[in-house]
Amino acid sequence: TVCMIALDEERDMAVATSTSGLFMKKKGRVGDSPVSGSGFYVDNEIGGAAATGLGEDIMKGCLSYEVVQRMKKGEHPMEAAQNAVSEFSEVLKKRRGKAGEISIVAMNNKGEWGIGTNVEFTFCVGTESENPKVYIATPDE
Ligand code: ASP
Repeated sequence: TVCMIALDEERDMAVATSTSGLFMKKKGRVGDSPVSGSGFYVDNEIGGAAATGLGEDIMKGCLSYEVVQRMKKGEHPMEAAQNAVSEFSEVLKKRRGKAGEISIVAMNNKGEWGIGTNVEFTFCVGTESENPKVYIATPDE
């Protein structure tokens, strides 16, 4: 899945996802990527979030919505994404002994960004003044 969150100079935000779904998925399966609140969510007044990983787990936690709600309560995007992913991964581990791979990118309407992941994850950040820069995130633990 490719996810993108954008903020323009008028402080309008947009979020998008594009995916082929999971490898070897069953015919008719719909993952998290096209589902608002799960694969993506944005609120101009707060910020946006988007997810990649095991859609069945991401949907159970409505994780993109969860990250935006955490930012609404004042959490920095980094804190919001990391807390949402690590707390929900713990819930999944308690329920069934393991959590699927989950990575979430987040950005608030000030342009501050964050990432939460339970696997190694590569992402990219670009700003008006800087060319896109590639980062590798590791699990929060
Ligand atoms: N989240 C996607 C899905 O479950 C898969 C992916 O991110 O690679 O359909």
